[in-house]
Amino acid sequence: NVDLSKWSGYHQKSMEERYEVLSDYLKSKVSQRDLEMDSATANEMIENCIGVLGLPIGIVPTLVMNNKHYVVPLATEEPSIIAACSSICKLISSSATHKGFVAVSTDKNVMIGQIQLLVQDPLETIPKVVHFIHDKRQEYVDTANAHFCESMHKRGGGVVDLVCKIIEPKAMTEKRSPYLCVHVYMDVCEAMGANAINHVCENLSDLIFADLSTTDFGSRVRVGIRILSNLSIYRRSKAAFRIPLRNLAWKGADGKEVASKILDAYHFACDDVFRACTHNKGVMNGIDSVCIALGQDYRAIEASAHAFASLKDRDRAYQPMTHYTIDEKTQELVGELELPVAVGTKGGSLQTHPGYRFTHQLLGNPSAKTIGEILCCIGLAQNFGALRALATEGIQAGHMRLQARNIALAAKVPIPNLSSCVNFMISKNSFDTKTALEFLAQKQS
Ligand code: NDP
Repeated sequence: NVDLSKWSGYHQKSMEERYEVLSDYLKSKVSQRDLEMDSATANEMIENCIGVLGLPIGIVPTLVMNNKHYVVPLATEEPSIIAACSSICKLISSSATHKGFVAVSTDKNVMIGQIQLLVQDPLETIPKVVHFIHDKRQEYVDTANAHFCESMHKRGGGVVDLVCKIIEPKAMTEKRSPYLCVHVYMDVCEAMGANAINHVCENLSDLIFADLSTTDFGSRVRVGIRILSNLSIYRRSKAAFRIPLRNLAWKGADGKEVASKILDAYHFACDDVFRACTHNKGVMNGIDSVCIALGQDYRAIEASAHAFASLKDRDRAYQPMTHYTIDEKTQELVGELELPVAVGTKGGSLQTHPGYRFTHQLLGNPSAKTIGEILCCIGLAQNFGALRALATEGIQAGHMRLQARNIALAAKVPIPNLSSCVNFMISKNSFDTKTALEFLAQKQS
C-alpha cells in the first residue's frame, strides 16, 4: 500500500524539478550543494590530494522492500544502470506477489579476522598450539573485549569467539608445510569494521604470542599477518521477489516466454564461467553504484561478493550470484540474491564527506543491515533487468540509446542539441561518432 505516484515520470523531469520532488519528499530544501565536498576536506581524507572528482549521482525512486518505500541513490559513470534498476523496481513494486522485494539479514554484523601463525615442526607443534589456544579461548575473548574493543563491547558487540584453523598449503613442498590461522569473530555493530577488527587482531596476536612464548613449543611459532578477511560470510543479506509469469509480458513476448528465456540465460551463467563473470558484473553494477553513493568500501563488497560466488557450488566453481527458478505450482518466477555485505553507517569517512550525510538521509538513515538488504535488492533488480533485455531484444537497443548522449558529448555536440542528436542516431539506428558528426554537419549547413 505504498503510494509511489509522486515519483511517476521522474526521469522526464528537469534537474530543478527533480530537486523539487526530493525537497518535498525530505521536507527540507535540497540542492546540488548537499552533495558537494570542498578540496580542503578532501585533502584531509587521502594522501597527495589534488582535488575532488565529480561523478553523476541519480536515484532509483521506487524501491519497495519489506513493504517500505526507499529512494536509493546511485553514483556511476555508466548510462543505463539507473534506468534498468528503476524499471525493474517499478515492476516489482507494482506486479510482484508481495508488491515489492522481501529481504532479510543475518542476526549480527560479525566480521572475521585472521591471525596467521607459522609453525616449525608442524606435525608435532600444531596440535599443541591448537590445544593451547582452545583452552584459553574464553580468556582471549574477554581480554579483547575489555582492552582492545571496549567501546564496541559496551554497545553490544565485540569479539564473540575465536577458532584455530589448520591451513594446508595448496602444494606441499619442503618449504611449504601446514600452518595455523586463528579466526577471530567480532560483532562490529554499525561499522564496516575493517579497522576495528584489524586493531583487535594485532593486539590479540601479541598476547597469544607472549603466552605461547612461556611454553616449551612457543619458540617454534611465529606470528605472520594479522588482518580481516573480506569474505564476511557471517554478515549476509538476502533479497527475493516472486512475480506471476503473466506479469512478465514484455516487448510483445508473453510472460511465460520471457520467464523461460530468462532462465535459459541464467542457466548459461551456471554452466559457463565466462558468462558467470559478466552476469555477476551486472549484479555489481547496481551494488557498486549504491555503495559509492553511500561512502561504502565497494572494493571490499566486490571482493567478498565474488569470493562468495565461488563458495556456492559444491565443486567451488564460480557461480552466478543471483538465483532464478520457476515455481510451477504457483506459476511465478522467483529471483533471489544473497551476499556477504560488510557495510557501515558509522566510522570510515562517512562523517567526513557531507554528501554521504545527504545520501544516508535520503534513504531514511537505515541501519547497516538494512543497507545490506537494499544492496541485494538493487543487485537483483539490475541483474534481472539485464537478463530480461538480453533474453528478449538484446542489450544494445536500450543501452546504446542511453550511451548515445555520451557519444554525442564526446563529438562536441552542444548540450541544448543533445536530444536532437540522440533522436538522429536512433532514426539512423547508428550510435557512433561518425553519426554524431553527420548530425552536426547537417545542423551547420
Ligand atoms: P573505523 O575505524 O572508523 O571504526 C568505526 C568507528 O565508528 C569507531 O570509531 C567507532 O567508535 C565508531 N562508532 C560509533 N558508533 C558506532 C556503532 N554504533 N557501531 C560501530 N561503530 C561505531 O571504521 P571501520 O572499522 O568500520 O573500518 C572501515 C574502514 O576501513 C573503511 O574506510 C575501509 O575502507 C577501511 N579498510 C578496509 C580494509 C579491507 O577491507 N581489507 C583494510 C583496512 C581498512 P569506537 O572506536 O568508540 O568503537
